[in-house]
Amino acid sequence: MSSPQPAFGAMFRELIELGVVEINTESLDAAVERRLKEFWENTSCPRCGHQSVVTWESTDRIWCRDCNFKPVFTYGTPFHEKHLPAGEVLLAFTLYADTLLSINQIAPFLGRAYRTVHAAIRDVEAAVHRGFPVVWSLLDQTIDGPAQVDESGKVCSGYKGQEPPRNSRSRGGSSQTGRSRWRGRHGDQLTLVAACRDSLRVISGQLGIDYSGDLEPVIQEAEDLSQPLGEVWTDGLQAYRQMGFDHRTVVHKERYVSPEGVHINQAECLFSLVQPWLRKFRGLSKQGLEQAAHTFGIVRSLNLADESTESIVDCLVIGAFRNST
Ligand SMILES: [Zn+2]
Repeated sequence: MSSPQPAFGAMFRELIELGVVEINTESLDAAVERRLKEFWENTSCPRCGHQSVVTWESTDRIWCRDCNFKPVFTYGTPFHEKHLPAGEVLLAFTLYADTLLSINQIAPFLGRAYRTVHAAIRDVEAAVHRGFPVVWSLLDQTIDGPAQVDESGKVCSGYKGQEPPRNSRSRGGSSQTGRSRWRGRHGDQLTLVAACRDSLRVISGQLGIDYSGDLEPVIQEAEDLSQPLGEVWTDGLQAYRQMGFDHRTVVHKERYVSPEGVHINQAECLFSLVQPWLRKFRGLSKQGLEQAAHTFGIVRSLNLADESTESIVDCLVIGAFRNST
C-alpha cells in the first residue's frame, strides 16, 4: 500500500480522471474581465497616476493615453500571471471557500499543479479580505439587532503536512464534548472568536493553546461593518474578561437562552460549521489558517445575505486595486 486513502474523494477523483467532469469557466472569465476593465476606466494609471486608462472589449490590453502604458487588464491583480484563466482562479477560490474540498482535491479537479492552485487561492483570498468591507457597505441591506460574540474551544490544525490520526482512539481531547479534536504539533492550535449580527459573520482565528479569547477585535470589526453596534450578547465567562464592553454586554450564565431571551446560538452554530471546514487545512501554515478562518466569515456573510458570485468578483477586484498602487 502506498499513501493512505483519504476519507472522501477517491471515487470522485476517478470520475475526474475518466474525463466525466468538464470545466468551462468562459462565462466567469468574461465576467471578471468586464469588471476589471470597468475598474481600469475609473482608476488612475499605475505608471503616471493620471486617470487616462482606456479599454476595449476586443483586446486584453489596456492603454494609458498619457504615458502610453499598455499592460494586460490583469496587471497588478491576483489574476496576473497565474497560468490560470481568471474564471478558473475564481472557481478554485469558490471550491476552497464554499465547500469542504481541500486544495489537494481541487488541484486534480482543475487538472492543475497543487502549487499553482495554492498560490492563486492565497492571492485571491488576500484581495477578497481587502475588498470585502467596501462591497459589504454597498449592499442593499440593514444589519441590526444584537451582536452575539463567543469564543470556540480550541481548533487544531495539527500534524502539519501529514494525515491526521486515522484511529479515533489516538485522538486527543475528549469526544464527550461533541467536538472531535486531534492534537498536533505545539503551536498549531487555533482558538476562534466570532461575532454574529444579522447576516454578518466575523471570525478571527487566534493562534495558541492558552489563548484567552480577546473578543475586542471581532467586536470592533463587526462594528465597522454594521454601525452603529447595539447590544453585545456573550456568555458570563467572556463578560468577565471584557470589562471594556460591560456597559453593552448582556451576561447570561445559562447554556442556551436566558430568561431575557439572550443567547449566543448563532455563534455556536457558526463554530459547528467552521470547525469541520477548517479541518481540511491541516497542511497550512498558521498564518494560512488564521486567514482561512477569516475567509469563512466573509463567505458565510455573503451567502447569508443572498449574494451571488458577482459579489466575490467585486471583493476581489476592489481588493486587487487597493493593493496595486
Ligand atoms: Zn499613464
